[in-house]
Amino acid sequence: MSLCRPTVGPEEAAAIARVLTTGVYTNGPETAAFEREFARLHEVEHAVAVANGTVGLAAMLLAHDIGPGDEVIVPSLTFFSTATSVLHVGATPVFADILPGTYDLDPDDVAARLTPRTRAIMPVHYGGQPADLPRLTAVAERAGVLLLEDAAQAHGARLHGRPAGSWGAAAMFSFTPTKNITTGEGGIVVTPNAAVADRLRLLRNHGMTGPYHHEIVGYNWRLTEFQAAMGVVQLGRLPGILDRKRANAAWLGQRLAEVPGVTPPGVRSGAEHVYMLYTVTLDPAIDRDAVLTDLRASGVEAKLYFPPAHRQPPFAIRAGDDGRLGDGPAELPVTDDLAGRILSLPFHAGLTTAELDFMVDQLAATVTRNAR
Ligand SMILES: *Cc1c(COP(=O)(O)O)cnc(C)c1O
Repeated sequence: MSLCRPTVGPEEAAAIARVLTTGVYTNGPETAAFEREFARLHEVEHAVAVANGTVGLAAMLLAHDIGPGDEVIVPSLTFFSTATSVLHVGATPVFADILPGTYDLDPDDVAARLTPRTRAIMPVHYGGQPADLPRLTAVAERAGVLLLEDAAQAHGARLHGRPAGSWGAAAMFSFTPTKNITTGEGGIVVTPNAAVADRLRLLRNHGMTGPYHHEIVGYNWRLTEFQAAMGVVQLGRLPGILDRKRANAAWLGQRLAEVPGVTPPGVRSGAEHVYMLYTVTLDPAIDRDAVLTDLRASGVEAKLYFPPAHRQPPFAIRAGDDGRLGDGPAELPVTDDLAGRILSLPFHAGLTTAELDFMVDQLAATVTRNAR
């Protein structure tokens, strides 16, 4: 039972083949159509498609003039590039701790880590559930800093009826194959602000405002027309994928209620979770690593999402022991505790009820064996 499996079919193949015959492979109408449709579905004015989510984060930061001397507050329980994108633009990521249960930024801990250099708070919608956006917005507004969303995992998610990605000054979504929809590689940045959207387009295409006139220093961060055409088809599949995942999550939640020592992912009040990940927490008495090993041996490809960023060498090593970044790992007690107790189960949209049942049976058996 593989952890992730893209949902694709002959429609994607046809879209890609159609682009092949047009002769326009980049910077064309497919990208524009993908952007329009993505913006409409996420109820934002502008969307700018880019080569991948990681450069999307960098573009989002650069479009707000975030750079050397600036700090951006991020979680550590995330894919590594949430933090490294901040480094890529020359700014400093500052890690804040998370809430148990929903695994996303704790607004009180974020407030405690603000400094005069803080320019932005960048929450991650962990696993596809919107972070506590009302409280994070309040913290950002009080401090006079930006809220920028790392919505890489949250296509179609909502909180209090409002789409993830439409709360902040801008938001990034990724289309790498582990996400709920994919274009192979790809990303998109959405924003309500026309000037920011213009800046994003310049950054994406070498700063060009006319033929070989480079207004600013930009990059080649374009998505191809093949990927954009595939993206439009994938957007059409999104509601079906999410319905299926939500039904599977409801089933799994019921079955896991019978398994002592395993807590299903918490759902925030008012949240429409899209379950890019299905992450459970084990009681401290259970040996999580042994459970992971057993699950994999039984064919269930469970994994830790994510080994915390602040424990990775570039952030964990102190300056002087060969590290560049300075002070050693940040103090993040909740993140460190959960990183030893959580695991994500396979949860792609193709899973059947029989497969979910098999997964729960295997988990129940290994949890009993590995209680310390
Ligand atoms: C996937 C992901 C990214 C990076 O996106 P890529 O398209 O793989 O570069 C960044 N942040 C989070 C939270 C992600 O899940």
